[in-house]
Amino acid sequence: MTALGPVKFLTIHCAATPEGRHVSADQISQWDQARFGQTSYHWVIELDGSTHRTLRDDQKGAHVGGANTGNIGICYVGGVSKDNKTPKDTRTDAQKASLLTLIRTYQERYPGIVIRGHRDWPGVKKACPSFDVRQWLKQVETDHV
Ligand SMILES: [Zn+2]
Repeated sequence: MTALGPVKFLTIHCAATPEGRHVSADQISQWDQARFGQTSYHWVIELDGSTHRTLRDDQKGAHVGGANTGNIGICYVGGVSKDNKTPKDTRTDAQKASLLTLIRTYQERYPGIVIRGHRDWPGVKKACPSFDVRQWLKQVETDHV
């Protein structure tokens, strides 16, 4: 597997799986290996909030087309409503808490790291990760006053 390079970005994704359906981190890695020939993300957060490391931080992922160098990828299970297609912020409270913990950990380890949603990258037309990352982080900070 290719080396990641210096960490500069952290990109959040959803798995685009239906609300409330349990999908394991292993399953997601298997799908990615079938589609892209490798594991896409560094972390997967399951519905119960459990975090699963799927790549080491020195391994390059495959989660943002053409921009995987120095880019850590986190994917949470869910992201579409029960119809299996409409983008929806389906994150459970446990997933939100775990996502925030992971983000904070990387912010401490790599000061200046840029946190983005997949859709915030130029040219991306998907709804992934089905919520506005910047707005959510701002909201979370306000709530913690
Ligand atoms: Zn994505």
